[in-house]
Order: sequence, then C-alpha cells, then structure tokens
Amino acid sequence: MTTLELDVIVRPRLRLALPPEHRSSFIEQLLPLAKENVSMIVVMRSTATEEELNAVLTRIQEHGLKGSVTYGEERNIVGVIGAAIPPTLREELERFPGVQEAVRITRPYKLAAREFHPPDTIVQVGDVAVGGGSFVVIAGPCAVESEAQIMATAFAVREAGAHMLRGGAFKPRSSPYTFRGLGEEGLRLLALARAETGLPIVTEVMTPTDVELVARYADVLQIGARNMQNFQLLEEAGRSGKPVLLKRGMSATIEEWLLSAEYIIAQGNPNVILCERGIRTFETATRNTMDLNAVALAKRRSHLPVIADPSHGTGKWYLVPPLALASLAAGADGVMIEVHPDPDRATSDGGQSLTCENFAALMPQMTALAGLLGRKSHMLVAH
Ligand code: PEP
Ligand code: MN
Repeated sequence: MTTLELDVIVRPRLRLALPPEHRSSFIEQLLPLAKENVSMIVVMRSTATEEELNAVLTRIQEHGLKGSVTYGEERNIVGVIGAAIPPTLREELERFPGVQEAVRITRPYKLAAREFHPPDTIVQVGDVAVGGGSFVVIAGPCAVESEAQIMATAFAVREAGAHMLRGGAFKPRSSPYTFRGLGEEGLRLLALARAETGLPIVTEVMTPTDVELVARYADVLQIGARNMQNFQLLEEAGRSGKPVLLKRGMSATIEEWLLSAEYIIAQGNPNVILCERGIRTFETATRNTMDLNAVALAKRRSHLPVIADPSHGTGKWYLVPPLALASLAAGADGVMIEVHPDPDRATSDGGQSLTCENFAALMPQMTALAGLLGRKSHMLVAH
C-alpha cells in the first residue's frame, strides 16, 4: 500500500465536504484547473486575504512550478501545474495562513477523482438520488419490444419496488441480423411507461447524432460497454447535461473507465453514474466475469456513484440474484437488472432476464441486506 492510500484510510478527506448546494459549483470551479492537468489543488479559506493567496503563489513559483487561480464565490482555489511536485509541498502549503487544504492529484483523471472531490456525488434523477448512501434498483427488459411488454414490465417492477425503468430502443448487437431495437418508437413507448408509472427511464444512446433525440425522451442516457471509448459520444452526452450511466467496456481497465467518465464531466456535466457490467476473462462458463473488485475500487478512486449490472455480468438469470446481493455488499450504489415478463420469448438477452416473479422475490432480500449494511434502500432528496 502506498503512503497516499494509507493517508486516505486514516484520514478520510472529509474536510472538503461541502454542503450540497456548493458541490456542483465546486466542480465547475475545478473544470479549468483539470484542463490544465493540475498535480495539486490548494483550497483557500473563504476568509483568506489577497496577501495570503499571493504568498502561496510565490512559494509555488519558488519551487519552479506554476500556480493557476480560479476565483469562486465561496473560496479561491489554486491549481499547481508541473510534474515534479516535491513530496513535502502539500504539508508545507497547508501551514500557510489562509490555506484550508492542499490535495495532491495523482491520477490522470482529475474531475472524476475522489481526491479532487472527496464527498460522494449524488446524481439526482427526478425524485431518485443515486449515490451518497442510498441503494437504487433499475429494472426492465433488455429491449423495448412492444407496448404490452414494456407496460407489463414497468408496472411489475414498480410494484416490486424498483426506482427506475430500463429498456433499450437502440440496441448494440454483435450480429447485424438480430433485433436491433424499435428506435424512436421504443423511446415513445418508454415515455408512455414513465407517464403511467412515474418511473424515470434509462435507455441507451449509441451515436453522437442520436444524443439529442434520446435526451428528449430519457431521464438517463446509457452509454454501453461497446461505446465506452467513443469519445465523441461521451462529449455529446456530456454536453446534453443529462445524467449519464456509463458502462465499463468489456476489456477496459478501471483507469480507462474513469478517464471516459472524465470526458463527460469535462463538458461541465458531473452527473455520471458508473456501471460495472462484467469483463472478458479466460472463463467461458459465464457470459462475462462480474468484476466486483472494480465496484469497490471505483468507489474509492472516484466520488461518482457506481452501480452493478449482474445480468450482463453473468449472462445467466439464476446467477443474477446472488451477484446482485454481492454487488450491494461490495459497495455498489445500486443495481441494474434485466426483467422480462416472458424471458423465453425475449428478442434479446432472455437467458439472463429475470421473470417479474423472480425479480419480486429478489427485492425483499436486497432491502434486508441494505438494512443490515446500514444503507437506505433508496433515498428521496427534495429538488
Ligand atoms: C444492455 O444494457 O442491454 C447492454 C447492451 O449492455 P452492455 O453495453 O453492458 O453490453
Ligand atoms: Mn441486454
């Protein structure tokens, strides 16, 4: 374990915990610094004087580094730019009058890093708050197939306690000859299901040019595993300002995944929900290998909410309940589960979809485990 990691364990950096109303403005204030690839940030006290700020800048220059200031309504922040940060600089600067805290940013992603923004980001989707100690369940079919199918599923998952409805209108399929979704008609059916049940909807967008269309219907834009490094799509989704559920690529490292989140946040959109959906390994007995290491590590490295998708993670419906529970135990802020009223007749991913009855049987187990772990099964935040 490195000193840095030890430091985080013994001294969780909660001093920077800002009241919720200041959090997004804090990210906005950090944006220009992230673009300059800062190695450290120095947060000045709200009471700091100009002389105190100048003293900090002078000391940074004396070390051969560049200081860049962003002026905020609450506080000013100095970014330290330069590769060779002396190991003692952080402590030195923290002794300067007017300095609240100095934080070393060691990762290539900045805005997505926990170091940059210690409190959990809470992504608000309608009345549903994702992250920050709640546990959220997103459920629905792999693909929207018909009005009857999406309505039956929406009512069943709401009845069982789900907080959001999922369903693909644009489906990325390995074969061009399989069902690729209903397109805009699918989005319309999702909007109808939302109107009838009140559940916010999560649906995938596959191309930058579709972002505007999908954002008109969806509450959350899903970016699929195959598109995790479609950088134009990430930026367009970022610019839409909508919450984005970013799936981890099936062969992507955790660092690559967080760098993809960085693309979205760098467009000024901090509303990113990370989703672990299983990775390719040597194992062929399951569709993917559910990487719960990644759930726990992403929670530590990043302030973003992390959810898990045990349906794609396992590819087998009977493995979904145990892995959904394991995801919760590993620290996930929620799960996304494929549910279909008649999985045997599903146009896609039937083999990994729970029936409405099996989903309803899983929910009380999730709620009981969430209680045991001191988590709220779901949190409502006034907005
Ligand atoms: C899906 O959610 O149905 C999907 C296509 O997921 P992934 O991108 O993780 O394969
Ligand atoms: Mn699917």
